[in-house]
Amino acid sequence: MKSRLISIIIPSFNEENNIELMYKALDRECTDIDYDYEVIFINDGSTDDTLFHIKKLVLNTSKVKYISFSRNFGKEVAILAGLQHVKGEAVIVMDADLQHPCNLIKEFLKGYEEGYHQVIAKRNRKGDRPLRSILSSLYYRLINRIVDVDLKDGVGDFRLLSRQAVDALLMLNEGNRFSKGLFSWIGLDQKIIHYDNVLRQNGKTKWSLSKLLNYGIDGIISFNNRPLRVCFYTGSLILLLSLVYIFVHLILIMNNGITEHGYFTTISAVLLLGGVQLLSLGVIGEYIGRIYYETKKRPHYLIQETNIKNGESYAGNQ
Ligand code: UDP
Ligand code: MG
Repeated sequence: MKSRLISIIIPSFNEENNIELMYKALDRECTDIDYDYEVIFINDGSTDDTLFHIKKLVLNTSKVKYISFSRNFGKEVAILAGLQHVKGEAVIVMDADLQHPCNLIKEFLKGYEEGYHQVIAKRNRKGDRPLRSILSSLYYRLINRIVDVDLKDGVGDFRLLSRQAVDALLMLNEGNRFSKGLFSWIGLDQKIIHYDNVLRQNGKTKWSLSKLLNYGIDGIISFNNRPLRVCFYTGSLILLLSLVYIFVHLILIMNNGITEHGYFTTISAVLLLGGVQLLSLGVIGEYIGRIYYETKKRPHYLIQETNIKNGESYAGNQ
């Protein structure tokens, strides 16, 4: 028995072909480290045999823990549940699909021992579809201008967190969790490790275009209220321009009488203002929607079953 413990959190949604491979890879990697380890699989409402495969592991080793949600709550929430239930002095978050190479664990631990609170894996975009790479790099350029926290392309949830970082994250209790932003928000000393992108072997990605779009909007809206302000400024500017326009035309009409029919100007004004108003309403709606969800104070998730003691009745609110 080693005296120090690290915890590995693995959110899993329909990963039946990956669970055992993942545990084997982890076990191989972790035999010669100075820490004991526990692996916590979060079964995020899988509709395939993911839970069955996790339970098979549980029968063979006491190192595997699991939390099974009552339905799919999303990866962000699965990570939260993991963070709330782990015991290790440091925690590693990684995907179930073998896209996060286990051999980085040793480098993570090296960084941790050097005193870093977050050791972050950053991937390049080798093998990604070109369109997705271009869109993401544009998105990150845009988002970093708008939001208050620093977000990097290629940096995701794959990282090691010290106990202090985990406790800091657990203090952020918002329902709508954009974990990339939360990780960045807590700060603390960080080290970045680079690795080559690995393509998914089994199963398929859970990111559809619409999910990616929603995630992108979450990133912008969750971390600042600048879009609201942009609406305010654009609205004010357009109001000012229209006042000038009306004033100038009034004077022209008083001097010359009505000479033009004004069809074009009327239509363009209506369209322009209509557009700005809809956009502004949309942005305001986004924020109000968020307030609406936050005021409900619903638990972040519900656990259907788990082998972690005192976890059964746990509805994930803090
Ligand atoms: N995942 C999850 N809940 C979801 C979607 C995904 O727990 O609703 C898990 C999934 O099983 C995987 C990780 O999150 O372990 C990353 O998902 P995916 O591989 O689909 O994302 P990508 O690697 O394509 O960004
Ligand atoms: Mg993946």
